[in-house]
Amino acid sequence: MNLKISGGKIVTSKQIYKADIGITRGIISHIQTRLRQPAKETIDASGMLIFPGIIDAHVHLSLPAGGTITNEDFKSGTKAAACGGITTIIDFAAQEKGKTLADAIKSRRAEADGKVAVDYALHVVPTDWNNRTAKEMSKLTSRGFTSFKMYMIYAKAGLMSDDAAIFSALEQTAKYGGIVTVHAESSNVLDMLVERYHNKADMKKHGAYCHALSRPNFIEAEAVSRAVTWAEATGGRLYIVHMSTVEGVEIVRRAKARGVNVYAETCPHYLIFDDSIFKKPDGFLYATAPQVKKQSDRNALWQALAEGVISVVATDNCVFTRKQKNRWRGDFTRIPCGIPGLETMLPILHSYGVKQKRISLNKMVELLAENPAKLFGLYPKKGVLSPGSDADLVIFDPLKKVTLSYKWLQTDCDWSPYEGMKVEGYPVITICRGQVIAQNGRFVGHTGYGKFIHRNGPQDL
Ligand code: MN
Repeated sequence: MNLKISGGKIVTSKQIYKADIGITRGIISHIQTRLRQPAKETIDASGMLIFPGIIDAHVHLSLPAGGTITNEDFKSGTKAAACGGITTIIDFAAQEKGKTLADAIKSRRAEADGKVAVDYALHVVPTDWNNRTAKEMSKLTSRGFTSFKMYMIYAKAGLMSDDAAIFSALEQTAKYGGIVTVHAESSNVLDMLVERYHNKADMKKHGAYCHALSRPNFIEAEAVSRAVTWAEATGGRLYIVHMSTVEGVEIVRRAKARGVNVYAETCPHYLIFDDSIFKKPDGFLYATAPQVKKQSDRNALWQALAEGVISVVATDNCVFTRKQKNRWRGDFTRIPCGIPGLETMLPILHSYGVKQKRISLNKMVELLAENPAKLFGLYPKKGVLSPGSDADLVIFDPLKKVTLSYKWLQTDCDWSPYEGMKVEGYPVITICRGQVIAQNGRFVGHTGYGKFIHRNGPQDL
């Protein structure tokens, strides 16, 4: 046995119990009360909670967007992830027009391999739909690429999939397995509303709030509804990424009740902020797509997490510095969209979810580890503390009080959406395949340690 973790309380989606964990060659070899066998090293986890390593199923590192590229790459981003208790990330490989999905995977892996400090996988993003793409999708599903992301917007950036493409991709998942994830916003009406507010008078009057004005809730609701229609018609498996509205929640709730194979994800920022943030002097920093909505949406999203209508919380981490965000100069259409999240997701969910009794500790583990592992084919290798699983885990001090600040956070960013916020509970040690990779908010692992993970098909929740 290489490592023993003694005296901690293990948290699973169902239980909380005191047990020691033994790790042998990167795998959990023992879980039992008072593990007596000797180990080369022992960590005393008395008073600590132990979670499975967090899986962030929605991450953008080294992403070109808004005329610039994210400030965080696979190296710095995965270091920050480790400090936040994350041991696996799933980023994206987007197809270039005229090229194959395999080409996209190859070039994305060339960017990530050797740089990642935690394990990683890639969602494949079809952007050039035709018979060849459909065929390739089924082939990839059997080769460990079991999730496909499709954008219902971003036509100008060449990322958008039309309804026929999404319908066909869902048909593929019904036949061959896999899961289609969608960015659900209604492209045509959205583009029209953006143009409507894209004038000097409105931009002078409303500033960054034009971002919220141009994306009312129905922009998300209509697209969620349409994607659900295609999932129901095809019998395919659908996952709505970064859902932000009460309307989306209700559509997914009703679809699930009818037996539609649909799942949803939300992100910490939709649970914490509302769109009044855009009226603050540096509100433009908070621009994301979709944007944060109203207090009533936040409440509905928390409720949906507690009830299992939303199954996953992921970050949509996408880091732009103040200087990059400042490119907007008063024009809301020019703000690079995205905010940091990797390092803060776990403490935020614990403080604002668990401590405020919106979700249980067990539910938090389900949302951040078990469910993403099941839906994205990583379970039971990852997402669970169980003999035979990868020894990915977080030792978490539920009483540690921390004031969040970009000044000490490891994320490569000169601002934080959570600046000055007090959290209770923080990861103290992150372990990936038996190796300690972060300790007390500092990265102590190795660049390039992370492995690319070939995945299985999704499991129903
Ligand atoms: Mn995203």
